[in-house]
Amino acid sequence: MPAKTMLTMPKSTDKEVQIRLRLQEGLNMKRSCKLLSTLAKEDFGKFFESFDTVLTDCDGVLWMGENEVIDSANITLNKLQELGKKVFYVTNNSTKSRDDYVTKCARLGFKADKESIIGTSYLAASYLKNIEFNKKVYVIGSEGITKELDAVGISHSGIGRDVMSDTVVDHLKSGNFTLDPDVGAVIVGFDQHFSYPKMMKAASYLYNKDTLFIATNTDEQFPSSDFGVVIPGTGSIVAAVQTCSAREPIVMGKPNPTIKDVIAKTHNLDPARTLMIGDRCNTDILLGTRCGFATLLVLTGVTQIHEVREWEKSEDAELQKLVPDFYLDKLSDLLDLLP
Ligand SMILES: [Mg+2]
Repeated sequence: MPAKTMLTMPKSTDKEVQIRLRLQEGLNMKRSCKLLSTLAKEDFGKFFESFDTVLTDCDGVLWMGENEVIDSANITLNKLQELGKKVFYVTNNSTKSRDDYVTKCARLGFKADKESIIGTSYLAASYLKNIEFNKKVYVIGSEGITKELDAVGISHSGIGRDVMSDTVVDHLKSGNFTLDPDVGAVIVGFDQHFSYPKMMKAASYLYNKDTLFIATNTDEQFPSSDFGVVIPGTGSIVAAVQTCSAREPIVMGKPNPTIKDVIAKTHNLDPARTLMIGDRCNTDILLGTRCGFATLLVLTGVTQIHEVREWEKSEDAELQKLVPDFYLDKLSDLLDLLP
């Protein structure tokens, strides 16, 4: 979506967003990504006035890991709020509940309340609550998920260590492998204790086609680590369970556009007046494109600008959807541009 089109766009319905995307594809209109700081002052002013809601990813945009704020991302985001923008923290990370994120935001200097946090653990629990799910959940994940299930009164099992015996046969004979007949859903999120027995349990529950299969997200890796190694993300665990169960999960996190509907329940969200900020194009930016939001990529996480330049040239409509409207080297570069 060219920036100029976005600036004058009237309030869009879901249907209009889809029609516009199809039109762009049909006309083979290529998207292009501009460095936001190169806009003329007047054009930046128009851009800044064009949105009143900001959805921002967290890992790789605001912080790295538990304690490291990326440059002055906290000051930047707080300034946006002081200037009247409503900010939502939209994270695919399932390791924390909304309460945990409020605590983390406060510790790292980001202004946030519980309603402004949209995490995948919360989305998964809300989904089950909305469908009046009344069985038990087998969780491959962590307390981030179980706290949100507790909050909506859904019982669960599975988190923590589930260690393999010497062989599968030994394990099955050991009495440590039992299936709970009350389980009616499997949620897969990030689990540092993911193991072969957990995979066997998930596959066995999902063998029953009535058992729901929910994945928090499909991110391949975490943005980076201090240890110079790749830290596999939830997507790798989901893929393992997908393969052994031969089932497709319902994915809660970005780029699933139903996140927009969850936010719209408490906030008057107009897609044409919403900005999505992220560091990963196949989740954050794709969510923005699908929902008709303006999009801003920051280069402090996963996606690199040379990848964007390749997608810009591509004839593939799906790759074109990954191209953000704007990019910045880091979020705090906004500080120099803000009024
Ligand atoms: Mg990220």
